[in-house]
Amino acid sequence: MSSASIEPWDLPTLDAAESHLRQSAFRPFHLRNLINGDLLAASSDCDSIASFNPKTGQQFASVPNSSPDVVDQAVRAAEQAFPAWAATSPSLRSQYLQRIAAGIEARRELFAVWESIDQGKTLARARVEIDRAVSNFRYFSTYILHQETHARWTDTNILTYEHRSPKGVFALISPWNMPLYLLTWKIAPCLAFGCTAVAKPSEVTSVSAYLLATVFQEAELPAGVINLVFGGGNPTGSALIRHPRVKGVSFTGGTATGRQIRRDTVDEIGKYLSLELGGKNPTLVFEDVDLEKAVATAAAAAFENQGEICLCGSRVYVQRSIWDAFLPRFVQYVRTNYVVGKNVGAVVSLPHYRKIRQYLTIAADDPATVFHLGSVPVETPESGYWIEPSILTVSDSSCLLKDEIFGPVVTLTPFDTEREAIEKANDSEYGLASVLLTNDGSRMRRVGEKIDAGLVWVNSWLVRELGTPFGGMKASGTGREGGEYSRDVFTTVRTLHIPQA
Ligand code: NAD
Repeated sequence: MSSASIEPWDLPTLDAAESHLRQSAFRPFHLRNLINGDLLAASSDCDSIASFNPKTGQQFASVPNSSPDVVDQAVRAAEQAFPAWAATSPSLRSQYLQRIAAGIEARRELFAVWESIDQGKTLARARVEIDRAVSNFRYFSTYILHQETHARWTDTNILTYEHRSPKGVFALISPWNMPLYLLTWKIAPCLAFGCTAVAKPSEVTSVSAYLLATVFQEAELPAGVINLVFGGGNPTGSALIRHPRVKGVSFTGGTATGRQIRRDTVDEIGKYLSLELGGKNPTLVFEDVDLEKAVATAAAAAFENQGEICLCGSRVYVQRSIWDAFLPRFVQYVRTNYVVGKNVGAVVSLPHYRKIRQYLTIAADDPATVFHLGSVPVETPESGYWIEPSILTVSDSSCLLKDEIFGPVVTLTPFDTEREAIEKANDSEYGLASVLLTNDGSRMRRVGEKIDAGLVWVNSWLVRELGTPFGGMKASGTGREGGEYSRDVFTTVRTLHIPQA
């Protein structure tokens, strides 16, 4: 096989993938869109976007920057497929979803290897996310077999009941931090509830979606039910969400993009928007904790996936009475357990590396800052985008307490009272997630129910049960997804009133 004809799916192990990428004759993979069941080479009106391996800085893929015409082609394919797909039985759709789950599971290592190469995450972390992508399909494949609906009788014996039907063609747009997991969190319920879709992964991490296209083909999903278009926010994403035949948008990404999507669809009252946006999540550590466990949970919440999880706790607030005991343990724990190149991956891209570096430079230039761990990384990295975990104390007015940095950077701040802890936690435009570390049972509820966050984890982090609502408050988004909440996203309800014959 010549290098040009080799595809990522021909290289299912880390050794095979890495030795292929090292060959002098290596040429970047050219990703193709999945439209109406076929993988199509980019048309001549599309330019392309270079995709890099964050661990080496090497370009390894070329992503088509799909034009509005290509997006239109994909939306029309989804629209054509919609009536037949919406009319299939839940049990048939369930079988397709099961086949997709099995298809990913059978290629677990292939997906994990390329997700790790594309995003910079460790292979171990990638495997966890691939398993969760499988769970997304499995969960919704069974959910649709056991749906309930409301029926009531009026006092004049008129039967009233809710009838749901799929909304139509959806635009599904995802970010770069957990590429396959977040994309399938949208695709699985969308297909399960009878909608068809055009999905667009982040242009920074598109390879796992490209692999997924082959799983859809193998599962013999009817043509057009799911289409994958690659490209940037502009033109591809923007053309997709504004397309008049798209009935709804499920978007995960940054708050600024969420605002733009809202502006771009403001005149289309009937277009449904589910927006899962950014976060700047607090971790509250109370004096009654078991210190070793609290340190481990706060560290995982801060540094898993290099801090590139929207749910990461990047603001840690510690009760002053345990500050002197917590701080050195936390620093030592992170130094030992979050080692760059071993259990901390590279950050996703050079622009993102520069963004994180800029925040660390701002912190370093402020005399009020203390670096307990980490330092400002070099301006131009030699090989790969590696950043050591940083633990800092900063002034109360620092932008490091306000802005989402989305990297391996965490601030530590003391507090005195429970009330102050809640105020500090809620002093943010965001409201996505939070971690509450305490052994006081009454405090768990007293504080937990006052934190402005869609998700509150007590003595835990990143626990997910897929039927529970997922989403944020304030600038972290609108809408919730998961179980029946996803059903609300992808179906429309009419209430029927039927008098006795
Ligand atoms: P981003 O907003 O830059 O991009 C997200 C996606 O939107 C990409 O696919 C991008 O191409 C697309 N896009 C960009 N502009 C668009 C436009 N005008 N119209 C339509 N699509 C457009 O975000 P990112 O940098 O890829 O991801 C990081 C952000 O995602 C962080 O803020 C993080 O907190 C957030 N995030 C949120 C969640 C959540 O569940 N709330 C989960 C993961 C990541």
